[in-house]
Amino acid sequence: MDSQEDTTLHMLFFPFMAPGHMLPMLDIAKLFSARSARCTVLTTPANAALIRSSLDRHAIQILVIPFPSVAAGLPDGCENLYSVPSPELEPNFIKATGTLREPFRRVLDELLPDCVVTDMFLPWAYHAADELDVPTLMFTGLSFFAHCCFDSMAHNDPLGSLPAGEESFAIPGLPHNIKMFKSQILNLARDRPDILEVIVMSKEVERRCYGMVMNTFYELEPDYSKHYREVVGGRAWHLGPVSLCNSDATEKSSRGNSVSDGYESCLSWLDTKSPGSVVYVCFGSGCHFSTAQLREIALGLEAAKHPFIWVVRPRGEGEEEESWMPEGYEERIAGEGLVLRGWAPQIAILSHGSVGGFVTHCGWNSTLEGVSAGLPLATWPQFADQFFNERLIVDVLRVGVAVGVRSMAAKHEERELVGAAGVQRAVRRLMGSGDDGEERRHRARELGRMAKEAVGSGGSSRFDLDSLVHELKERRIGKMILK
Ligand code: UDP
Repeated sequence: MDSQEDTTLHMLFFPFMAPGHMLPMLDIAKLFSARSARCTVLTTPANAALIRSSLDRHAIQILVIPFPSVAAGLPDGCENLYSVPSPELEPNFIKATGTLREPFRRVLDELLPDCVVTDMFLPWAYHAADELDVPTLMFTGLSFFAHCCFDSMAHNDPLGSLPAGEESFAIPGLPHNIKMFKSQILNLARDRPDILEVIVMSKEVERRCYGMVMNTFYELEPDYSKHYREVVGGRAWHLGPVSLCNSDATEKSSRGNSVSDGYESCLSWLDTKSPGSVVYVCFGSGCHFSTAQLREIALGLEAAKHPFIWVVRPRGEGEEEESWMPEGYEERIAGEGLVLRGWAPQIAILSHGSVGGFVTHCGWNSTLEGVSAGLPLATWPQFADQFFNERLIVDVLRVGVAVGVRSMAAKHEERELVGAAGVQRAVRRLMGSGDDGEERRHRARELGRMAKEAVGSGGSSRFDLDSLVHELKERRIGKMILK
């Protein structure tokens, strides 16, 4: 090998364009960049505009390929699942991502990076990379726990042998006795036929690719980290909580957006509240609620009598923006409740000392972000892996109280309605000291401490990151020698 040859590792990141996938993958790119890798992110023009300022600070290059929004029946410039105007158009979006295959391949041919990091929703990227002998790391955005649950459901099919009339069952073969209702289990063929093909392909790729990069930390789910590696048989590196790499105020406030509108006023509102007194309520980037459900949440939060910040995402096409709001609501809650419309600076809010609890849909990023902030959680899962995550939070980690949703429905108008009394009860339990509240808070604080340790010097996630960087570098050097 010529001693002058460049041994810098070159990583190409190709994220699926939805906040819950894109944000953690960009954080992973920042982690690699901080370990002196040269990082390139491949995305589409509208997404590039959103992330440019945050990546420039890390000297991460962005490459852009066009996205066929209009040809796919989506509004011009709609290039992220978050901006798809109604759930009915999500299949169009998924289909359109498939057309990125050829442009991706051309970029790959030109760059020939040492490694591609891509997403379970873009599994064909693996095949393109494999043809060029470029290893692929897959990112699913799931916990080890959820991976193990999905794997057991697929291999043991406990629902297939469930006696008629039985509504609940235990997921077989896991380190804990995890009980679920059968109505909480995702049936892809029935609920999301539009993503079935992609998921099947991604499962196959998961077995064949170089390995998985996971947004989690060992101490959070040690039994499932082992179970995944030893029983499920996957190769994985845990690098999380990756959101903790956003340490300064600008990075925290601008994650996923240009600095959020109302960021300053939201944080100064929090400054006026006592430590641990505010409940933060947010259901991630993809949950749509019916008008009736939004109204019940509004009334429940008001009745719980704890200060709150509630993030209400823009409503779908054909739904009136404010039709859910009870009359005189904002006047009544003035000073005690803040309704944030649109995108919230979530990690900045969660790490503010006045926040004392988080009502979450159990999306894995939100779960980890709540855990990293040392907060107890009230769990209100909607879909996908979220019902599994609820069991991890409530039964295994014991840092959560369940709102009590019994069933999953693909369409928001078919979801069971949680009444104001249910919302009020969950918030009171979450924020109160009775009913094991203090112990729950103590455990949550401990997990928050462990999360920070994991990504710090000598921590378990830092160790996995360094091992992965080292291994990929060795591979690069090996290839250079053989040339
Ligand atoms: N998020 C945010 N502001 C919002 C809504 C979401 O910053 O108003 C971020 C949140 O911090 C998390 C991601 O978007 O990192 C959502 O991912 P998650 O897995 O929790 O849920 P999903 O949106 O995929 O259902």
